[in-house]
Amino acid sequence: MKIVCETCGAPLKYYDTVSRIVRTKGHITIHVPVQRLKCPMCGCIHRNLPDYIYPYKQYEAEIIDGVVEGFITCDTIGFEDYPCEMTMFRWRSENL
Ligand SMILES: [Zn+2]
Repeated sequence: MKIVCETCGAPLKYYDTVSRIVRTKGHITIHVPVQRLKCPMCGCIHRNLPDYIYPYKQYEAEIIDGVVEGFITCDTIGFEDYPCEMTMFRWRSENL
């Protein structure tokens, strides 16, 4: 799969790999390697995020889906104290 720049459409070149912190169920923090790609034309840095991480979200995609689809609420066992109600409300309104 060839990844191209969203701005100018040039093929991106591998730049470096950074560590991204993701909080998972049970408050476990994991570090996920994320490749960064650089556009040789305009110099933009793009992150090649794995599918299971939504951009700029600190929670697992699975949890976000559960909240949006209504499986996970504040009363769900194991998720009682997190994510907080306001965060869930924001996700739902973003994904309607
Ligand atoms: Zn570019």
